[in-house]
Parts: sequence; structure tokens; C-alpha cells
Amino acid sequence: MDRIVFLGTAGGRASVFRFLRRSGGFLLWLSGKLVHVDPGPGAFVYLHQLGIDPKSIDLVVLSHIHLDHSSDVNAVIESATDGGNIRNVALFAPKSAFEGDSRVVLPFIRKRLAQEGFLEERRELSYKDLVVKAVMRHTHHEAETYALLFNERILYVSCALYEERMLEFYPKNVELMIINTTLYKKTKPIDHLTVGDAKKLIEHLKPKKAILTHFGYEFLMKHDPKVVAEELSKRHNLPVVSAEDFMEVRL
Ligand SMILES: [Zn+2]
Ligand SMILES: [Zn+2]
Repeated sequence: MDRIVFLGTAGGRASVFRFLRRSGGFLLWLSGKLVHVDPGPGAFVYLHQLGIDPKSIDLVVLSHIHLDHSSDVNAVIESATDGGNIRNVALFAPKSAFEGDSRVVLPFIRKRLAQEGFLEERRELSYKDLVVKAVMRHTHHEAETYALLFNERILYVSCALYEERMLEFYPKNVELMIINTTLYKKTKPIDHLTVGDAKKLIEHLKPKKAILTHFGYEFLMKHDPKVVAEELSKRHNLPVVSAEDFMEVRL
């Protein structure tokens, strides 16, 4: 059955590394395959705590190399491939994750992969029954970051500075839009989405359902994401949910 499970819902350095909530990205079961998106801190442990065998993972995807999205990528691939015994896992990520000074994938882990794919704006990559399209390159603190569309159904809006071209590049009426809403509102110039930005995306692109996640420190300390999501639901007349750690949503 197609479903999504959020391992963690903290976002940004302050809330992830002070452990306000768990992190570790999310799991997506689509067409009988399992994708692990953005395996940040704790991902490896949480997989086991949820009783999910890492060897059942088919594809790992990194939206960008920041540690809250990538720190466990090596441990997850090492366990997914049973220490290199099984070559049945692919990794799609920006080229910067594989090569150069800021790479996060260790060279010996690359050798374990059945396939590697470099995300690029508007490029579509596929593995088994999974198709991942990098619909747009985001502006996000100089890290090569992409919004990702999975099997033309689920749009993952990773960390970003809001830009009007999102409304052109992102598909309309998707089944589910997951939005990394790190900020309640902008108090300093950082490249993250706010509740107001999420509102604009929902209003213009009209997904059938939206999930807010990746909550930053101030958001969690001063506001209740649940209340924010309820307000958005009422205003736009569609289900908007604030993600909780280990929350499961059936698709
Ligand atoms: Zn982030
Ligand atoms: Zn980031």
C-alpha cells in the first residue's frame, strides 16, 4: 500500500541539532517500492526502531547536502546493501553530494550502489518503478537544492528561498505536496520557506493535500504547527496537516 512515514520533522540547524524533534527525512512507499528521502541525523536508528528493514529500501534521494538532510546517507546505504552484499539500491542526489570538497557520500559507499543519478533542474531519473523529477533548482544558501516530484504524484518542496518561478515550475493539482516550512515568518534574511510562502504555494498550485514539515527552532518554540495547518486547511478548503515524528499518511 502506498504511504509515507515521517522519521523526523525538525528542520534547520537550530531545531535539528538541539533535538527539538527528530530528524531523518521521510519514507515513501510508491508502486511497491521504498524511497528514503533526506536521511538526516538519526535516520538509521529510526528505521530500526520502526521495524523497517533497511534492506527493503530501493532508492535513497538527497534534495541537498546540508547535514540535516544527509548525515546518515552512508549508514543507510551501508545497511540497505547489507554492507555491500546486495547491489539493489540507487542514490539520486545533486552532483555536489558525490563529488568535490563538500561531498557527503563516501567513495566506498558509492561503489555499493546499483545506480547513481545526478539531479538537475528538469531532469527525470528513474529506477525500478520509481521516477523522480527535479522540477526546480532552489536558491538555498549556495547548496545545490531541488524540489522533487515522485511518480508524478508527490511533490517535495525542499528548503528554499521563496521565488515566484516556483508557481511556474511546480506542477498543479498534485496528490500531495510536502512543504519544508522551516519558518513561521522571516525575522532575518535566510533562505527558508515561511508559513506565508506555503500559503502562496497551496493557493496557486492547489494540491489535493499538503503536509507541512521541517520545522525550525523559532517556529516550534513560539507557535503550534498544528494550529497553523488547521488555519490553512480552513482558508484553502483542502486538507493541510502538520507532520509529527513517526506520522504515517496513507496515499
Ligand atoms: Zn533543511
Ligand atoms: Zn538546507
